[in-house]
Amino acid sequence: MSFRNRLRFEHQLAALVGLLCLALVAVTVGGAVWLERRSTVRLAEARLARLAAGMAESLDTTLRERFREIQVVAGLEPLRERWTGDPAMIRGVLSAMRTTAPDYAWLGFVTPDGRVRVGTEGLLEDLAMNGRTWFETGLAKPNVSDVHEAVLLGRRLVRTEPEPLRLVDLAAPVRDAAGRVIGVLGGHVSWDWAIRARRRLLDEGLAGTDLWVLDRRGRVILGPHLGTAPFGPARLGTMVEGGRGTFAAVIDGETRLAGFASAATGERSGIAGGDPGLGWIVVATRPEVQAFAPMQRSIQALLGLGAVAALTGIALAWGLGRRAAAPLRRMTEAADRFGRDADATTLPRLDGAREFVALSAALRSLLRRIGSVERELSDATQRSTRVAAYYRRQIEDLRQVAGTDVLTGLLNRRGFIKPAEDAFVQARGGRCGVAVLVVDIDHFKRVNDQHGHDAGDAVIRHVGDLLAEAVRGTDTVARFGGEEFVVLLVGLGVTEAAQISERLCLAVRGAGIAHGGRVIPVTVSIGVAVLSGQDADIQAAIARADAALYEAKARGRDRVSVAAASAAVGRAA
Ligand code: GH3
Ligand code: MG
Ligand code: MG
Repeated sequence: MSFRNRLRFEHQLAALVGLLCLALVAVTVGGAVWLERRSTVRLAEARLARLAAGMAESLDTTLRERFREIQVVAGLEPLRERWTGDPAMIRGVLSAMRTTAPDYAWLGFVTPDGRVRVGTEGLLEDLAMNGRTWFETGLAKPNVSDVHEAVLLGRRLVRTEPEPLRLVDLAAPVRDAAGRVIGVLGGHVSWDWAIRARRRLLDEGLAGTDLWVLDRRGRVILGPHLGTAPFGPARLGTMVEGGRGTFAAVIDGETRLAGFASAATGERSGIAGGDPGLGWIVVATRPEVQAFAPMQRSIQALLGLGAVAALTGIALAWGLGRRAAAPLRRMTEAADRFGRDADATTLPRLDGAREFVALSAALRSLLRRIGSVERELSDATQRSTRVAAYYRRQIEDLRQVAGTDVLTGLLNRRGFIKPAEDAFVQARGGRCGVAVLVVDIDHFKRVNDQHGHDAGDAVIRHVGDLLAEAVRGTDTVARFGGEEFVVLLVGLGVTEAAQISERLCLAVRGAGIAHGGRVIPVTVSIGVAVLSGQDADIQAAIARADAALYEAKARGRDRVSVAAASAAVGRAA
């Protein structure tokens, strides 16, 4: 993977801080939500419990008061004689009761035979109440019966509520002075009172709140869906047992928080003998979602704040990272330039964090070291170039020396090989003829003997010079050793070679060599041979020329002798 694909420092830092911020926000908001949720649920449930308790209290209070009234009025001594004898007066008393407590839908006095003797506003008078619980029980003891739909009164009374009239029946026996039961005082409390109380509490309560009153068997007697049982027996048992409390339950597919309170109706109302009362349970509920709604807004605000904090963090981290990485980037650019540009000598000094300053110092010292090594290397290279050139020249000189005769400066036998081979190749190609001359100084021994070795050397040098001057640039002159020379004439036939040899003889003879104040007479003998097609190499021609030289010496020296072409010859001397 190329380094260009990698994230820049600031991006990495920003990503890291972003993740960190997200984690922090998640933890903070999650924690806050958890805490807030707990307290919200507790608060909401407590509120609902209070509401339920308020409703229960309201039911209790009203019913207790009405029940007491009934009992008190049933036992009033001044009325004792009037119940049966003065219906008009009793009607007046009952009407007055109804005026003070308009919750009464009806009040009446029923004689033990079941006939209504007196009814408020004359209602139901003379009708038979036999079989009605309140009446039958009322003959024996005061009682309260559970709410039920009105049968007779429903049609007779003017209604203010839209729903059918329902009643809670209260009754107490009326006795004469001897304690005999002379009738039953009954009061029907209109359930509208409970409906209104519920409505009032709900109006004061929070949105979405609902309030139900359940009877002993868990059926709704107040609230929507009358007659339905919203809770199972287990829940109902818990509520009956607990008396007060809170819970959360799924009702109609919706999670609702609930607070409940059992109404003491009946128990605290003075019904003696361990009567369990009516067993009403008031349940206040509210959708959990609605209870959490205010919290949702705080969560949103928290999330918003968190997002702002995270973005700020990311931006800051990005900026910081950029700032922090700037010296490194400068250093990288400078190092890159250093790598590409031969003229760049050093890196910039970095400022900023201590690590960067230390890094730039370390890099600069590293580069100084590299620079000095580079210079040393270049010096060494130059030196080695000079040495190599020197040795090349030496080798060239040596090669020269190896092929050159020291005394005369002519080629020696070794130096002669190359030009001889070249000439042989040329002659073989038929391009031109090649003549070989072997030149030997006559009676040279005598020169050495008479004039000294130095004079001999001078004579050799002199003859060499004469030979070199006499031939063309394309010809070759070599000293083969002692006072013997070989000349290679390229492009000439035997006739021309013989003529040149004659001229050479003449030139040497005519020169005379001045040495030590004396002139030393010198002559040479020359053997001439021409390379022929049968010659295996140049040596064959040299051997023939040598033989011709021998012949010239034999014929008296200071002369030229030409060898017959390709004659088999041997060297005599
Ligand atoms: P000829 O006419 O038959 O050639 O007789 P020569 O005396 O020239 O022949 P020889 O071969 O007998 O003598 C050659 C002498 O040359 C022998 C040697 O001492 C001498 N000589 C050989 N090389 C050198 C040299 O480099 N310098 C000197 N001064 N003398 C040399
Ligand atoms: Mg000789
Ligand atoms: Mg000689």
